[in-house]
Amino acid sequence: MNKIHEECGVFGVYSSEVKNLASMTYYALYALQHRGQDSCGIVVNDGGVFTGKKDLGLVGDVFTKEVLASFGPGKIAVGHVRAGVKGSVTHANAQPLVVNHVKGTMALGFNGSLVNKNELRTELELQGSIFHSTADTEVIAYEIIKARLNAPSIERAVTNAMDKLKGAYCIVLMSPTKLIAARDPNGFRPLCYGVTEDGSYVVASESCALDAVGAKLVRDVKPGEVIVFDSMGVRSIEDHCNTAKMSSCIFEFVYNARPDSIVDGYSVHEARVEMGRYLAKKYPVEADVVISVPDSGNDAAIGYAKESGIPYELGFLKNKYVGRTFIFPDQKDREDQVRKKLNPISSVVNGKRVVMVDDSIVRGTTSGRVVKLLREAGATEVHFMVSSPPFLFPCYYGTDVPNKDMLIANQHTLEEIRQMVGVDSLNYLDLEDMKKIALMDGKNGFCYACFNGEYPTETPKSTGNKYETKINIEEYTKRH
Ligand code: 5GP
Ligand code: MG
Repeated sequence: MNKIHEECGVFGVYSSEVKNLASMTYYALYALQHRGQDSCGIVVNDGGVFTGKKDLGLVGDVFTKEVLASFGPGKIAVGHVRAGVKGSVTHANAQPLVVNHVKGTMALGFNGSLVNKNELRTELELQGSIFHSTADTEVIAYEIIKARLNAPSIERAVTNAMDKLKGAYCIVLMSPTKLIAARDPNGFRPLCYGVTEDGSYVVASESCALDAVGAKLVRDVKPGEVIVFDSMGVRSIEDHCNTAKMSSCIFEFVYNARPDSIVDGYSVHEARVEMGRYLAKKYPVEADVVISVPDSGNDAAIGYAKESGIPYELGFLKNKYVGRTFIFPDQKDREDQVRKKLNPISSVVNGKRVVMVDDSIVRGTTSGRVVKLLREAGATEVHFMVSSPPFLFPCYYGTDVPNKDMLIANQHTLEEIRQMVGVDSLNYLDLEDMKKIALMDGKNGFCYACFNGEYPTETPKSTGNKYETKINIEEYTKRH
């Protein structure tokens, strides 16, 4: 439903001793499930012997007790969860990818999107490479293998391959004896590492996965950094650090990441609360209750309520047991799905003027349905606060927007959207306010390309730079 994000979650562990790493990886992937529900995989390495299993489906479905029991113990393991857009959800695209080459075996998990993958792939194919998947991961694997032929070590091969990779990537790689983590020089996607009480090192897309396996967050992997975990301990290679301006994805804070994660030093929850506060400061309304569209609107709704003094209440019950079971292809069914998932608590909204907070509007379909439910439950007014600016531009760094027509803000004016969604008022967080929150401590840089069309890197050649929007971007960025 509404899926436009081709997100992934990566995990890796280098253990202080040989032990059951499949179950540890399983718990970590469980915590990263929100980053991808289409396929998942685990590879465990016992003295250079790789045992892996990957499949389409949720972590809990693929890794049954029996499957987990079939893994032996190991010293290193990697895991992956993947969300693919339509057509790319195949077994071949599932990860980690295990590759055998003359210099040894490696397993690779990847999150992001390369802006030059087509060029790299064509070059590789003309040199004789044969691809089995459409995933960027395979391109990266080939580049590392190629670089390995002239490099003294696998980590050198990774850094040399990075010279060629452009765009967003976080890589977790396992060789027979090492665990390697790498993050692109812009630091688009999150990646951090931590340590467990018994001295095992873990790497993950988000710190919530470290919490899930009882590891303490040490720090984020720096943009451009390659970190090696092996019998010698932890080493950092910083050849690519400071070669680009940091541009961590702001949408991680809007929607992708879990609120209990710390990304690049920021609490995702606190950032969202702050977004809600800014909305309340700039767009106060007379209302009786603040509610969220769960779960993505929860944190910002709390912020709006705190700042405005209007009480926060549970406006919707979200059915926890609706997972991926109800996936219907057409629009009518998609609408029904909203009703299966969310039900208004009528005593909270009946006869009330409601502030409804959600993190983003993509197509507007869900929002329209949700508002209809509120009206049916007796809400007298619905004021919709969106805790991010209008989603106007395609993302080339892991959020795949195949068709601009999918983005309601790209196709319609603010007033048109308000009418289509059926609310009394509609306000988006101003980009300037979002920047104020993001740059609060002036420490990091962020990518806002989906909101302002300013891309920190070159964009894919075939796609062009920007596309026309009906909304005037100035209207949002310079409103105040
Ligand atoms: P819309 O009204 O645009 O149909 O849906 C808005 C909702 O979509 C918001 O609640 C937002 O959290 C959610 N959303 C944003 N991006 C994604 C995504 O990639 N996948 C899913 N399932 N929901 C998303
Ligand atoms: Mg949502």
